[in-house]
Amino acid sequence: MSATILVVEDEPTIQSLIEVNLRRAGHVVQLASDAESARRMVQEALPDLVLLDWMLPGMSGIDFARQLRGDARTRSLPIIMLTARAEERDKVDGLEVGADDYVTKPFSPRELMARIKAVLRRHAPQATDDAVELGGLSLDPATHRVTAGGMEIGLGPTEFRLLHYLMTHPERVHGRSQLLDQVWGDHVFVEERTVDVHIRRLRAALEPSGLDGLVQTVRGSGYRMSAG
Ligand code: CA
Repeated sequence: MSATILVVEDEPTIQSLIEVNLRRAGHVVQLASDAESARRMVQEALPDLVLLDWMLPGMSGIDFARQLRGDARTRSLPIIMLTARAEERDKVDGLEVGADDYVTKPFSPRELMARIKAVLRRHAPQATDDAVELGGLSLDPATHRVTAGGMEIGLGPTEFRLLHYLMTHPERVHGRSQLLDQVWGDHVFVEERTVDVHIRRLRAALEPSGLDGLVQTVRGSGYRMSAG
């Protein structure tokens, strides 16, 4: 499993403990010591998950979580709050803010990794190694293989990530800017036309299996993966 995880934590020892464990688990780690720099990082590219300390210098973790939930672009970004025992009674507030889970300090790295895995599985399946199937198409992130009826389909790395994202979020319409954010990790410097180019390549690769129709164009809105 390889997800991009943004760690917002001002305590250097805890920050590096988390960093080491996340890297060991194969994740890509982004580090911020306050909400302001975390906000700038999120503006540039969306991580798959945010590990957010409750007590931060400047804006609190709770206020930052509220800000993320209040913006359409970051509304569904998975958030795990880190909190000290004394603050436990405030859990209710945090859940109201929309954190997906809580980890209380001090925590064991093993427990933290397990909670991250569970939240990713629920809210960011494109960042897990779980195999997916849709309409006769199978994709296995662990082996990087896509098959249709036993036939292997060769895809470039971008088409693979695009297909993985679409298959883990089926029956929904995705705008081009949203796909750039989620699949390319860049919604500012990559042109929206790029999405169309890769969708075309993806369909061409699926065509021999007759499954290219799974990738639908929704006029004026974007693309949708649908088995129906
Ligand atoms: Ca802190």
